[in-house]
Amino acid sequence: MGQEGLSAQKRTHSAGLPTTTAVPNGRGRALAGLPRGRQIHKTFNNIKITILCGFVTILVLRGTIGVNFGGSDADAVNQNLVEETNRILAEIRSDSDPSDPDEPVETELNPNITYTLGPKITDWDQERRAWLDQNPEFPNFVKGKARILLLTGSPPKPCDNPIGDHYLLKSIKNKIDYCRLHGIEIVYNLAHLDKELAGYWAKLPMIRRLMLSHPEVEWIWWMDSDAFFTDMVFELPLSKYDKYNLVLHGYPDLLFDQKSWIAVNTGSFLFRNCQWSLDLLDAWAPMGPKGPIREEAGKILTANLKGRPAFEADDQSALIYLLLSQKDEWMDKVFLENSYYLHGYWAGLVDRYEEMVEKYHPGFGDERWPFVTHFVGCKPCGSYGDYPVERCLRSMERAYNFADNQVLKLYGFRHRGLLSPKIKRIRNETATPLEFVDKFDIRRWPSGSSE
Ligand code: UDP
Ligand code: MN
Repeated sequence: MGQEGLSAQKRTHSAGLPTTTAVPNGRGRALAGLPRGRQIHKTFNNIKITILCGFVTILVLRGTIGVNFGGSDADAVNQNLVEETNRILAEIRSDSDPSDPDEPVETELNPNITYTLGPKITDWDQERRAWLDQNPEFPNFVKGKARILLLTGSPPKPCDNPIGDHYLLKSIKNKIDYCRLHGIEIVYNLAHLDKELAGYWAKLPMIRRLMLSHPEVEWIWWMDSDAFFTDMVFELPLSKYDKYNLVLHGYPDLLFDQKSWIAVNTGSFLFRNCQWSLDLLDAWAPMGPKGPIREEAGKILTANLKGRPAFEADDQSALIYLLLSQKDEWMDKVFLENSYYLHGYWAGLVDRYEEMVEKYHPGFGDERWPFVTHFVGCKPCGSYGDYPVERCLRSMERAYNFADNQVLKLYGFRHRGLLSPKIKRIRNETATPLEFVDKFDIRRWPSGSSE
């Protein structure tokens, strides 16, 4: 498109030149009535100008024609670009780095030794307390609010299809907006800190790393890349979780009575930065190492969890299995939240956005206006999802625009429709803009209220 625009511009320029050469003719009429000597002098000057203009015209035309009709040159440049892009993509996608002399040789994990996330830490609560006392400039509570760090991420390599990367961009923009409006810090992880824990397990080592590297952070909030904030006003009711260390969206009856593999969801959850959480991560990780360990663990999970298809161990099933099998050890510090959508399953929500706009307003976070819409099973970045790609992408676009409308409102715009990236004005510019700041800035509304 840029190329077309460029050559169109060039065509306009060259088309303008013949009028320049025509100028002397036009002037010729204005020369009538001058003395003969001066007329000859003028005519001579005009001829000089004509020759000069002709010369310039030829030069410009040559340049223009060279670009317009020199298809083989342009094709060669394009071909080079495509080849170079493919070369870089292949290099990023391949696992080896020929320029890295320390690249480790692939070693198989010993299945008889329980896998660990790192050296066992036992006194984190005291260590962290001492650090906080010594570093008052990094408090874990700011203006009475616990410091929260939202962590999200995606695979280190480009998506199988470029549209997947586009939705990763929309997803991080959506999270940046929410975090900016609510004073939450944000980290995007693209790395596999531990190659054993690639894929959906990658969140575990990163959560641990962030707890240890940011003692000032009170809560680490993991959010999947395929989860969007859809209520930009709602805030976490943190005081409810004062006595808890892990907050998950889930249902106790589905967990303990049905042993369902979807009793809780690990697409959006909160961990307190404390020893208990490090211990839970240690107990959670052993089913994660890719290859035979993950495969074998998958069989145990499928045999024990209701509704689980046969596939390798995933982080969500492993956590459910841990909470079921060691209920007494962990559950008194786990809060199962279902009074609002800390995670909301997309299929039941995305078709109701218009109805929500009609009847309610942001701030509820529940079925009236879901806090988070999570595209479980959609895999926009990979190749194999559980749902048709078109339905997933359409629904994601709707969720993104539904949320973005709440952000754009302050600026006086909204999307033309929930499927449209185009926006339109919803109020006129005025000479007294501050009245709109008072009325529409989400940051000014007290937590939990929406008006
Ligand atoms: N993820 C990551 N690195 C990877 C692969 C996945 O950080 O190499 C994250 C990504 O945020 C993704 C999440 O892990 O959203 C969980 O996977 P997914 O959402 O595909 O699972 P689902 O929610 O469909 O069960
Ligand atoms: Mn997900």
